[in-house]
Amino acid sequence: MIKKVGATRILQKHKASCHCGAVVLELSLPDGIVDPRRCDCSICRRKGAIVASVPLSGIRIIQGHEALKLYQFKTMTAKHYFCSTCGIYTHHQRRSNPNEYGYNVGCLEGVNPFDLGEVSVYDGVHHPSDRAP
Ligand SMILES: [Zn+2]
Repeated sequence: MIKKVGATRILQKHKASCHCGAVVLELSLPDGIVDPRRCDCSICRRKGAIVASVPLSGIRIIQGHEALKLYQFKTMTAKHYFCSTCGIYTHHQRRSNPNEYGYNVGCLEGVNPFDLGEVSVYDGVHHPSDRAP
């Protein structure tokens, strides 16, 4: 759990926004930034964002609901949201754990994700949902 990134303290209720400012989220982060990671699946490798997790109740859209676009592919399980104006990925409902959202750590107010240092890589190419039971 990460409660401070560079000089920025992670608040219990921390705001996140897309680049143009149309979309503003309020994240509940009582434990700070949880499980920040990169992922090498087909969408994340293109996106390049560092992602962390919150329960579904942990994201409230406070502005720009109408600006958000939904993108789905293949199994249509995960829901990837991005701003239709600036194109920035804000959050997604996870496929490996549909009770969680992943969110773009770079969207957090005042947070430079490069200050996180080493970030682990999630093996998205070999997604748990694609493995034989
Ligand atoms: Zn935007």
